[in-house]
Amino acid sequence: PLILGIESSCDDTASAVLRGRKILSNVVSSQTDLHAAFGGVVPEIAARAHVEKLDLCVEQALSQAKVALAEIDAIAVTAGPGLIGGVMAGVMVAKGLAMGTGIPLIGVNHLAGHALTPRLTDGATYPYLMLLVSGGHCQFLRVDGPDAFTRLGGTIDDAPGEAFDKVAKLLGLLQPGGPAVERAAAAGDPAAFAFPRPLLDREGCDLSFSGLKTAVLRARDTSLVDGALPRSLRNDICAGFQRAVAETLAEKSRRALALCPDATAFAVAGGVAANGAIRSALEGICDRPFLAPPLPLCTDNAAMIAWAGSELFEAGAHDGMNLAPRPRWPLDSSATPMLGSGR
Ligand code: ATP
Ligand code: FE
Repeated sequence: PLILGIESSCDDTASAVLRGRKILSNVVSSQTDLHAAFGGVVPEIAARAHVEKLDLCVEQALSQAKVALAEIDAIAVTAGPGLIGGVMAGVMVAKGLAMGTGIPLIGVNHLAGHALTPRLTDGATYPYLMLLVSGGHCQFLRVDGPDAFTRLGGTIDDAPGEAFDKVAKLLGLLQPGGPAVERAAAAGDPAAFAFPRPLLDREGCDLSFSGLKTAVLRARDTSLVDGALPRSLRNDICAGFQRAVAETLAEKSRRALALCPDATAFAVAGGVAANGAIRSALEGICDRPFLAPPLPLCTDNAAMIAWAGSELFEAGAHDGMNLAPRPRWPLDSSATPMLGSGR
């Protein structure tokens, strides 16, 4: 089917057109510059920018795909979870387009978009294990279908991307922190500082990253020379921190894989999956095909929303004009509405 996707749940306004697995267009308009001065995403600014950019974004997605709106089989829009203002803006635009044309509307869970991406990029077959690691999320999901997810575990506090960002801030590195910390770590000695491996002593796949952040703060404070942090020690701290995150994620992934003996593959998505050390640690423990979609499809985008919508559409799902934004929408079989009920 020919699907139009719309995404506006955080700080990227995005729209894409897919025909089956073929990405005809994938437009992302980032708001990073708008929020940079505030050190984080400001919900009101985000919502306003989405309202301003959505129409143009959709127009560009259609024109780049050389497709007319009337040809579209279904409109897939992120209906949650995320910032309420942005989600509402996207849902309203999608409803407007659907109402004017009679094209079916499908509300997509943003996390389902991430979790189904390996099917779009690599043709992963159900069931498979998914690790979502980003600035806002960290969880293991068993994926059995476009509307069938089981959460096996996840962070009990910070997401790893958030930890990378905070560590960068503590060490005076630029934001976003992930790439900056990775660059510094490349020049450091990962064994110079002993950082904790949180929750490894506890059974299961839950993770914790806030203690690591505190350990980095302590390491920094004990490394100051005349009130300044020498570059070499800063690099060592980055390397040690990164290794701690990588090893913790790898060990918990090993356990999650053991919980899913029938999973055909292990896939990662989210900005943190861009990290080379983390990627190779995960690949290292993986006893079956390891899938890491290309970065532009790992971070927020609308192609993944269109793809999830495409799968749901083919499974017979569709929403009416009463589709409501769900700023909180856990991605778990027990909490996700089943096909045909509540949709
Ligand atoms: P979400 O999509 O879950 O709401 P988000 O928009 O913050 O959150 P992404 O865009 O997927 O998530 O990822 C951004 C995060 O990834 C940031 O926290 C960033 O620091 C981190 N990140 C990006 N590149 C790297 C890297 N090379 N190493 C570690 N972390 C990275
Ligand atoms: Fe996301």
